[in-house]
Amino acid sequence: MKITFLGAAREVGRSAILVEGDGERILLDCGIKTKRNEEFPLIENSEIKKLTKVVLSHAHLDHSGYLPALYAAGYEGKVYMTKPTRDLIQLLLADALKIQKDWSPYNKNDVDLLLKNIEILEYNQLSKDKIIRFQNAGHILGSAMTEIFLEGKKLLYTGDINLRSSRLLSGCRTGLEADFLIIESTYGGKEDLHVPTKEATGEFISKIREVQQEGGKVLIPTFAVGRGQEILFTLENHLKSGLMNETTIFLDGMVKKALKIYRHNAIYLKKEVQRRILAGDDDPFKSDFYKFPKTKSKKEVFQSKKAIILSTSGMMTGGPVMGYLEKLAGDEKNILIIVGYQSEGSPGRKLLEGEKRIKNKDKIIDVKMRVWNSPFSAHSDHKELVQFVKSMKGLKKVFVVHGENEKLFDLADSVKSKNTEAIIPHLKESFEV
Ligand SMILES: [Zn+2]
Ligand SMILES: [Zn+2]
Repeated sequence: MKITFLGAAREVGRSAILVEGDGERILLDCGIKTKRNEEFPLIENSEIKKLTKVVLSHAHLDHSGYLPALYAAGYEGKVYMTKPTRDLIQLLLADALKIQKDWSPYNKNDVDLLLKNIEILEYNQLSKDKIIRFQNAGHILGSAMTEIFLEGKKLLYTGDINLRSSRLLSGCRTGLEADFLIIESTYGGKEDLHVPTKEATGEFISKIREVQQEGGKVLIPTFAVGRGQEILFTLENHLKSGLMNETTIFLDGMVKKALKIYRHNAIYLKKEVQRRILAGDDDPFKSDFYKFPKTKSKKEVFQSKKAIILSTSGMMTGGPVMGYLEKLAGDEKNILIIVGYQSEGSPGRKLLEGEKRIKNKDKIIDVKMRVWNSPFSAHSDHKELVQFVKSMKGLKKVFVVHGENEKLFDLADSVKSKNTEAIIPHLKESFEV
C-alpha cells in the first residue's frame, strides 16, 4: 500500500490523502483550507483523472470543499459517504459557491455532477468490492471513520473524531483492528484536556446567567454543522426544565437549514432524541424558544431584553454573525462565546488571543464585549486520542495529521510504542507500507 499526504499534513485544512494498492487509487477526503485566500489539496489534474474512488469522511469544508473541483478536472468516478453527509454537503457546497463566485475552482455543474455520483454507505456496511467500510466517528451528524482494505492489509483513517457521546450523537467506535492508522490531532497537544461535559455545561449555563443578570446579550458564532446543534439542545433543555430564565434563542444563517437536515436524519441521532421527535409534543427541533429573525435590520433581536444568538460563520470569517458582532461589540455587558475550533489567523482566534479590533470587510469593529471560550468541543482531546490509539489492535504505524505543529509532536510522542511507529508526514510525502 502507498499513502501520500496531499493536504492536512503539518496543518489543519484541505484534508486529502491518496491511498494506492491492488490497482486502486483512492482519495480520502478532498477539502479546502479556509483563509483569506483558500488553499487546495496538492493534486494535479492529471492525477485526478487517474483516481478510481473517492471517500468523504464528513461534511465540513476542510474535508469536502474541493470535491466538485475533481469533476471539473475530469474525474468520473464515485464518491462514497454516509447519507447525512450527502444531505449536509448539498447545503455547505451551495453556500460556498455563493461566497466564492468568480474565483471558484468549480461551478454549479460540477456540484451537480458530484451529487449524481454519490454512493451511500451505511456505518459498518462493506462496499460491494469489499474495499471500504465506515464506522461512527462521533464528530458531527454523519461523520465516519474509514476502513480501507487493500493488499491484504487494513488502513483506518479517523477523519475528525470525538470519543465522548454528546447530547445528539454517540461517541466514536474504539477497539478497532488495523495495520495502519491516520489520526487527526486538532486537540492533540498535551495541554489540550477538555473538561467533562457536565462541568462544561454547568460553566456555560452559569456564564450566560451572569451576563443576562447584568443585562447583556449573548452572541455565539457557530459552524452550520457541529457544536451549534449541541449548544442549542443544551439551551433548550435548560429552558424547558426551568433551570434557565426564559430567553429567546435567535437562529440565523445556515444553522437553521442544517437543523432541518439533522431532523430529517434523526435515525443517525441518539435513541433518546429520536424518542422525543416521535413523541410529537416534545420535539426538541421545534421548540417555542427558537426564533428566526426575518427582517434585515434584525430589529427584534436588538429590541428584546434577553437574547441568545446563534449564527454562522463559526470562525467569524463572514456571514450574518458579523452583523450581530458589529451591533453588540461596543457594549461590555454583552458576551461573545466561542464554541468551536478557530484556525490560526481567523478573526475568532484573534479575539480569543486578546485582540480588540476586528476587520469586517472595510469596517473596523472595536470589541468591548467580553470574549469567552466555551469548553465544548466536537473533537477529542489529547487523552482521548491517546486512549483511541491504545484501544486498537495490531497497529504497526500511526500517521498524525490535521493539527498545528506542537500538537502533532505531542500526540505522536504519546502514541508511539515498541510495536507502533508514529510518523508526522510532510505535505506531498509518500510512504510505502
Ligand atoms: Zn470536522
Ligand atoms: Zn477537520
